[in-house]
Amino acid sequence: MMSEGIGIQEIVNNGYCIGCGVCAAVKHSPYSIQMDQEGKYQANLDSDKTDNESIARVCPFANEALNEDEIGKKLFGEHRGIHHDAYLGYHLKNFAGGVSEDTYREKGSSGGFGSWFAVTLLEEHLVDYVIHVRPINHSSSILFAYTISTTKEEVREGAKSKYYPIELSNVLDVVRNTPGRYLLIGIPCFIKAVRLLAEQEPIFKERIVFTMGLVCGHLKTDRFAKTIGWELGIHPDAIESIDFRVKIPETKANSYGVAVKGNGVEKEITSPMKDILVHNWGHGLFRYNACDYCDDVLAETSDITIGDAWLPEYVKDGRGTNIIVVRNPVILSLLEKHCNKLAIEEISAEKIYTSQAGGFRHRREGLSYRLYLKDLKKEWRPNKRVKPSNQMSTRRKRIYEHRIPLASKANEAYQDALSANDFSIFKNNIEPELHRYNKLYHRPLLVRVVIRLLRYLRNMVDVRK
Ligand SMILES: Cc1cc2nc3c(=O)[nH]c(=O)nc-3n(C[C@H](O)[C@H](O)[C@H](O)COP(=O)(O)OP(=O)(O)OC[C@H]3O[C@@H](n4cnc5c(N)ncnc54)[C@H](O)[C@@H]3O)c2cc1C
Ligand code: SF4
Ligand code: SF4
Repeated sequence: MMSEGIGIQEIVNNGYCIGCGVCAAVKHSPYSIQMDQEGKYQANLDSDKTDNESIARVCPFANEALNEDEIGKKLFGEHRGIHHDAYLGYHLKNFAGGVSEDTYREKGSSGGFGSWFAVTLLEEHLVDYVIHVRPINHSSSILFAYTISTTKEEVREGAKSKYYPIELSNVLDVVRNTPGRYLLIGIPCFIKAVRLLAEQEPIFKERIVFTMGLVCGHLKTDRFAKTIGWELGIHPDAIESIDFRVKIPETKANSYGVAVKGNGVEKEITSPMKDILVHNWGHGLFRYNACDYCDDVLAETSDITIGDAWLPEYVKDGRGTNIIVVRNPVILSLLEKHCNKLAIEEISAEKIYTSQAGGFRHRREGLSYRLYLKDLKKEWRPNKRVKPSNQMSTRRKRIYEHRIPLASKANEAYQDALSANDFSIFKNNIEPELHRYNKLYHRPLLVRVVIRLLRYLRNMVDVRK
């Protein structure tokens, strides 16, 4: 059985570190966080220190740690009217929509709810500080980092999704040393790690009074941003800023663009994301390996989760639409109080699931197969709520198998291109790989005809109902 607990060093060595920085934030931790050659943060044992196995209890990938169901039960299990399911975790109510006041929706990635909610908590004096990710405005090679905002203007500067490596160790040090009430915004594994830290050091429980999770497909290394810039004519060493979610008027929400600025290039360069080689999230290029062994899509341990409403009825609105999952009754009351500033409607748990169906397929069915493959090779892997299995169609198995090496192939191609200082090497090496992978999705003509026919008949039945 591959499930025994191991320390932080082995978690890193086996490729399961997501670089959240929480193990480095433990008091007197022997770990610090460093960016590795592939452009991802990783925990690193300081040379003059020795590992302490108890630190692994804060790691979202350690077998010693509580899982999302266990943490969620402690936090939300007793709330009146709470529901639980295997996809959303605990939930009180779910919504879809956006912000109708000011320009939050225009300036946000989706419906602008993320920034609006953080500002509202500050204005209602429910928190003093917002921990979130903002662009770094100095001449370092890092484009974004976790920071702490105290004003509406600072919070709004951080709007939009950063598909970019970030880590929490520095801001958690500030929380430990600075009394006050904090909102933490983060991806699911980061929120889970902070919940685990709060179990060990109650000061974090007292001070981080609210958490807002972002739905998460996977996290990207810094090569994702650099490759986009390079394709648009900005060398990886010269990239100064990137906006991963440019809204394009008159198009659908999922047809967004990307904008980059570079040193020595006067104007910002914008492109539809679909024209960019690494655009397809399904390919998962430059993702962290750890993301392939994660089963929390909807930030099940956060007080509220927000994401994109990838549903046909909302996606046609190019202004962007949020899905919102509320777990904390204080937050539910706050939304009811401010409902005149929001254009949101209640939706079912099934709709929330459907909006992230692709993510769930990869992280439930796909994960079960990846765990099965790990066990077959007798390699260590973290315990998951999903059980190892190979009970799926041969086609799905082949898709999951081909997806695994794409990430390392992208890294090799990027390294070769960098050594030759020539982007076309990346393009020429990775395109055939993507082509081979895309072909797995092509079904034989007869199967496609049957599927279309079945869809047509189902629609006819629905129309008559
Ligand atoms: C790595 C990543 C993967 C995602 N994957 C999915 C997905 O598969 N499906 C889906 O529906 N949604 C996904 N999202 C969420 C989505 O992209 C939007 O961030 C979310 O809908 C909020 O948009 P908004 O307009 O409400 O918020 P905004 O007003 O744009 O505010 C967003 C807030 O989130 C903070 N933030 C942005 N990036 C990060 C980060 N990396 N870590 C911590 N805080 C951050 C910002 O600082 C800001 O405060 C992902 C986000 C990230 C960062
Ligand atoms: S706690 Fe975070 S940074 Fe530390 S090993 Fe685990 S995933 Fe990596
Ligand atoms: S997919 Fe999971 S492990 Fe990866 S960044 Fe998202 S929440 Fe973390």
